[in-house]
Amino acid sequence: MRKEGRLVRWVWWIVVVTALFFLGFTIGWFAKPSNANSEKHQDLNKNLREFLEEMQTDQIREHLRKFTRLPHLAGTEQNRKYAEQIQNEWLEFGLDSAEMVPYDILLSYPNKSQPNYISVVDQRGEEIFNTSLAEPIPPGYEDIPDIVPPYSAFSAKGQPEGDLVYVNYGRTEDFFQLEREMNVTVTGKIVIVRYGKVFRGNKVKNAMLAGAKGIIMFSDPADYWADGVQPYPKGWNLPGGGVQRGNVLNLNGAGDPLTPGYPAKEYTYRFSPEKGVGLPSIPVHPIGFHDAIHLLKNMGGQIPPNNWKGALNVSYRIGPGFTESFKSHKVRMNIHTNNQVTRVYNVIGKIRGALEPDRYVILGGHRDAWVFGGIDPMSGAAVVHETVRSAGRLLRKGWRPRRTIIFASWDAEEFGLLGSTEWAEDNARLLQERAVAYINADSAIEGMYTLRVDCTPSLHTVVYDLTKQIASPEEGEEGVSLYESWHKRDNWTNDRDAPRISKLGSGSDFEAYFIRLGIAAGRARYTKNKKTERYSSYPVYHSVYETFELVQKFYDPTFKRLRVVAQVRAGLVFLLADSQLLPLDVNEYADSLRKYAQSIAEVAQRNPDQMEMYNVSFDSLFSAVQNFTSAARDFNERLQTVNREDPLQVRIMNDQLMYLERAFIDPLGLPGRPFYRHVIFAPSSHNKYAGESFPGIYDALFDIENSADPQTAWQEVKRQISIAAFTVHAAAMTLTPPA
Ligand code: GLU
Ligand code: ASP
Ligand code: CA
Ligand code: ZN
Ligand code: ZN
Repeated sequence: MRKEGRLVRWVWWIVVVTALFFLGFTIGWFAKPSNANSEKHQDLNKNLREFLEEMQTDQIREHLRKFTRLPHLAGTEQNRKYAEQIQNEWLEFGLDSAEMVPYDILLSYPNKSQPNYISVVDQRGEEIFNTSLAEPIPPGYEDIPDIVPPYSAFSAKGQPEGDLVYVNYGRTEDFFQLEREMNVTVTGKIVIVRYGKVFRGNKVKNAMLAGAKGIIMFSDPADYWADGVQPYPKGWNLPGGGVQRGNVLNLNGAGDPLTPGYPAKEYTYRFSPEKGVGLPSIPVHPIGFHDAIHLLKNMGGQIPPNNWKGALNVSYRIGPGFTESFKSHKVRMNIHTNNQVTRVYNVIGKIRGALEPDRYVILGGHRDAWVFGGIDPMSGAAVVHETVRSAGRLLRKGWRPRRTIIFASWDAEEFGLLGSTEWAEDNARLLQERAVAYINADSAIEGMYTLRVDCTPSLHTVVYDLTKQIASPEEGEEGVSLYESWHKRDNWTNDRDAPRISKLGSGSDFEAYFIRLGIAAGRARYTKNKKTERYSSYPVYHSVYETFELVQKFYDPTFKRLRVVAQVRAGLVFLLADSQLLPLDVNEYADSLRKYAQSIAEVAQRNPDQMEMYNVSFDSLFSAVQNFTSAARDFNERLQTVNREDPLQVRIMNDQLMYLERAFIDPLGLPGRPFYRHVIFAPSSHNKYAGESFPGIYDALFDIENSADPQTAWQEVKRQISIAAFTVHAAAMTLTPPA
């Protein structure tokens, strides 16, 4: 009886244990901790792979071909037509919606009946030399109408006449050197500077502040010519007749000059044109190096320092004016460019998110071009187009991202980031509540060497993870990842052993999203080897020679580089839109904050005596960074163990991740720059293209040793340190457990 009982119990035990074992197996008790998650992860990876594999070089080539046949300057009929075509094709590709969103904004065009040019005039006022009215047309484009001649958009009108002063690149430090070391003043003079190093708008601002009555910018071969390369069309160098167009505004993030802060709709109040934000008060004009030779060759005055000499066969004397024998010759600018309120069109396409439709991931890039836009921006627009096509294919197979994806084809970027900024103003309330990230898609290539990524620190990790899963596009690197290929070519030397990632600056459409609204942002493109290729941007930038053939013949004959850029941009969008937990890394932000705090403290330490005299300390900032670092570490630990089956827990963590970037926004903005509101990053006050960290402190410290009122200047430094410390601390608090 007892024996039997035991046997029965044994049999029972075996039955129960076996049953439990099989049950457990089917529901996944014995798999790795979260079988459900790893399945989801595999789905994510499978979909990501499919998404990236679907993007094809031939398709990108065709998109680029069809969108670069005709000039499509912002505000022209052709640019509206391309917008309609993009809208239609996005709908055909399968987006849930695609709409044209118009704004009426201030643009600027040359006067068709009164051309802009610069003359050398003799003592009788006769024009003895005139700069060219247009660039020589590239082969194949002879009969194309509507090629806008080179000009500086938003130049003031006028015909100033006077002596030239050469000021190197026209940077702040160049004007300091001119005025403080060479004792030359430009008051009442016309300044001539070479293009390069900084955004052209900053050069114009510097010339205005120095008292110049006009400014001429030229492309010097030292900055726009690669050794051993032929000029276009035989190669990718800038010919002597080629000229860089571009706007010369100082908007500081304002968007349309007449409607700062509000979308430029039909009913919107507009400032009168004289009150417009950021408009230069002096005439500005760009020229190529053939013309520049004629203006520079007879200049007199001081011999320039060696680093002011370009590569032309002239002396680069700084003036003012011409040498003895040509003393009576003057330079006259003839500028008749008009500002005009004009309708422009963004195209906005959407894929509705399946689970979190109220969370937005944005992929945006501009469509408007100075002429054909071969590189800028259509190499980027072609990549966006291919991304939409590939996403459409996935949608048709039943995929739908967790979050909403918004695709944008921005207008009027070249006129000051206007289309993207107006849309940001229009949608600010939605975006500040719902935007997860913004990925920019301007030019996809500016060189043939390797990847370039600029992004907010919290995106570093996902960029590295993603590029490890993408193949190198380079010949002979079969089986090598993009990450390895990039790492080998551009190591982040001082700081860490990883491929270099830089801070975001500005000069493209992510500005309003990142710097004004505090949305995590990034950009990626193929770039040149900065160590050996010293020219600025790429030689034919903003010239008529930016054609389809430029890309097809020289920059990317196989279109594999463009595809890899498409994969990086699209991959980031995919992971941000479809991962259950947002792939944002708060520890990376902590790391970057520490580096930036150290480096701004070092800048201040250049004046140790004054630091002591005025009792200036960075302790509050360092301790805020310390708080942030431990909050980030704890947050990250909680993130590892969050119950992924609990949608509310997941959403709580994701919201903390999404809103971290928002926490760095100061609603009052930076001093004198109300639309630059990010306390950690802003475009440099001396170069819009470059990013500055702790910009409030940096600007307060700038040139402080020459301040007329050091007491007040150091008080402002202290105020800025306290704002930075508070902001970092406040951001840290957003990462602590909610209760
Ligand atoms: N990307 C254009 C340029 O560099 C516009 C930049 C801007 O206005 O910020 O000329
Ligand atoms: N290509 C410029 C940049 O890289 C922007 C532009 O000129 O459109 O930021
Ligand atoms: Ca506006
Ligand atoms: Zn561009
Ligand atoms: Zn451009």
